[in-house]
Amino acid sequence: MAIFTLNMYTSKIIEDIAQEVLDLTHAFENYTNVSKISNALGLKVIPALFNDNNIAGMLVYNDQEKAIYVNSTEIKERQRFTIAHEIGHFILHNELIQANKQNIFYRGDDNSSKPEEKQANQFAASLLMPKKELERTLNSFEKIHVEPIAEIFKVSKQMAYFRLVNLGLI
Ligand SMILES: [Zn+2]
Repeated sequence: MAIFTLNMYTSKIIEDIAQEVLDLTHAFENYTNVSKISNALGLKVIPALFNDNNIAGMLVYNDQEKAIYVNSTEIKERQRFTIAHEIGHFILHNELIQANKQNIFYRGDDNSSKPEEKQANQFAASLLMPKKELERTLNSFEKIHVEPIAEIFKVSKQMAYFRLVNLGLI
């Protein structure tokens, strides 16, 4: 087994990397087009049914296959988050992926406390609700309401709420 160290990305660095990905792929079109980003990275997005329905998605990256499998039974907003999360692993944890060709990243509900999972979640939030687009949107609102913001960015209300809280906007 290969030994690797996980980069301790700050939230600011994760924000910047996500913005760079959006800029390079031109994937922000009123909202973030996650399929466009996956395609640009050579990752096929495959809707799937898992034996364990707690699995939201997985990234498979080896010589045979480069793909993101996403649990198709979940609501669209959550599927978008899952794809963005797996893109986060691909971008932030490439060293880890390269070190272990068979590595598959799962996103379930039980492993979110691992640092790499936190980083991938932070990346997903930054990708789906880019800071500058969010600030632009908020400028057009007199008062901040989570629901319309979630609709604009096509994310769950819960995700929109956490993102606004994390950025200190509410
Ligand atoms: Zn993950």
